[in-house]
Amino acid sequence: MDKVILIKYGELSTKKGNRNFFINTLYKNITNKLKKYNVQIRKDRAHMYIEFLDSELEEVKSCIDKVFGIHKYNIATIVSNDIEKIKNTVLEFAENANFKSFKIETKRSNKEFPLHSYEVNNVLGGHILKNVSGSIVDVHNPDLLIKVEIRENNTYIYSSEYFGSGGYPVGTQSTGMLMLSGGIDSPVAGYLAMKRGVKLECVYFEAIPHTSIEARNKVIDLTKKLAEYTDSINLHVVNFTKIQEKIYKNCRSDYCITIMRRMMYRIMENICKRHKGYVIINGESIGQVASQTLTSMSVINSVTNMPVIRPVACLDKLEIIDIARKIDTYETSILPYEDCCTVFVPKHPAINPKYDTAVFEEEKFDYSTLIDEAVENINTIKVSSQENNEFSDLL
Ligand code: ATP
Ligand code: MG
Repeated sequence: MDKVILIKYGELSTKKGNRNFFINTLYKNITNKLKKYNVQIRKDRAHMYIEFLDSELEEVKSCIDKVFGIHKYNIATIVSNDIEKIKNTVLEFAENANFKSFKIETKRSNKEFPLHSYEVNNVLGGHILKNVSGSIVDVHNPDLLIKVEIRENNTYIYSSEYFGSGGYPVGTQSTGMLMLSGGIDSPVAGYLAMKRGVKLECVYFEAIPHTSIEARNKVIDLTKKLAEYTDSINLHVVNFTKIQEKIYKNCRSDYCITIMRRMMYRIMENICKRHKGYVIINGESIGQVASQTLTSMSVINSVTNMPVIRPVACLDKLEIIDIARKIDTYETSILPYEDCCTVFVPKHPAINPKYDTAVFEEEKFDYSTLIDEAVENINTIKVSSQENNEFSDLL
């Protein structure tokens, strides 16, 4: 008996004008994810079908679970449109299940099939009642729900339902540039943005020798985790050392973080322009630290007109941690390597910085030359979820 993974498009199907683009992107992403498996993938307007080898099912499922744009899927048995074959298969499902009450739900899109849906329900239900002792029908809250879809060429029968990651296929939106630190919040922000279809690139600011190679490798590992939801991700590594040193030498200490973040945003805007990024994405969360009060965010944000998306802005830390655990970035994020933001933290950072003071303080050194220099010297690493991405991958 043939089996197939049956993917329903769910939320995608509400995108009328873009429907084909969404479906084709999903198809491309699934094909890409499953390229090393022995699968056949087909699509029509309502479903995608993946034929697989039984021995690879678990691996194929775990790949599918990381493709955005899949809300639910089933593993269906395919039989020809022959009521006797359908009866046998449905009975087999029942014999392999542990249940008392059951329901059959038939959809008949093939109007040539000689029985109506309700007649098919009756025939199949009767067949189970007759052959499985003690079974009863419960149409409201059955232990076992068997769905039967009679289509053009074949009938699909399934009882199990699996949840995918939801969202939209990665690549249905253009590129967003994620500020990726080694912390807990920014990988979660990146995951949530990708879930809306954003094609992600990441930017990491390092301040070697104040920060370590281990800290950089940790960010590479986090990028690798995020790459599991797409195919590969470009990680741009910015050498931020000179700028940070100048800030801490020249500017008043309570404004150092404000100014440092204004510099980061300026560099982000520059990188976006070079790499066709349309938005800056980061892991800022309202009120979490001094630089993330609304007044701080506003003074920092004023250096750019680009949209800044903050997917975790309104989440509690515990809610962010829940997602970090789910996507398996948490354990990496809590490794104790210094980030450039933590190395230079002043004792009393300004919680409500003033715009004019920030501008006055940062004018004390020639930051635009240093920004140009930092952007010119960016190292880009193409990080793929499957390979070993060390420095040899510098583009
Ligand atoms: P934590 O989970 O400990 O809060 P964090 O990464 O969120 O870590 P924050 O100081 O809260 O650290 O920084 C806010 C946001 O600024 C981060 O989520 C990230 O998007 C960005 N950011 C901070 N440091 C860096 C860095 N070194 N490189 C790139 N982005 C950074
Ligand atoms: Mg944070």
